[in-house]
Amino acid sequence: MPHNIKTYCPKCQVHTLHEVERVKKRKASELKWGQRRFRRVTAGYGGFPRPKPEGREKPTKRIALRYRCKTCKKAHQRPCFRAKKFELGE
Ligand SMILES: [Zn+2]
Repeated sequence: MPHNIKTYCPKCQVHTLHEVERVKKRKASELKWGQRRFRRVTAGYGGFPRPKPEGREKPTKRIALRYRCKTCKKAHQRPCFRAKKFELGE
């Protein structure tokens, strides 16, 4: 997949040149709802709320991409897809 692609920008409402970047997983914020619930549930006795997932690793990984418009500098995301191998280049 190339670093720059021409695609639709929701802000400009036309096709413009976009910079593609991989979305990395961030550390969960301590103030986010899911993280607060996780801290509450794991606090005290009782341990972990969910069993560890068993079985093999999935053969494909989800690829999340962010598209940044070079004209208006706004970024948008597309529904992510799955791929065995993914590279940004060219
Ligand atoms: Zn734009």
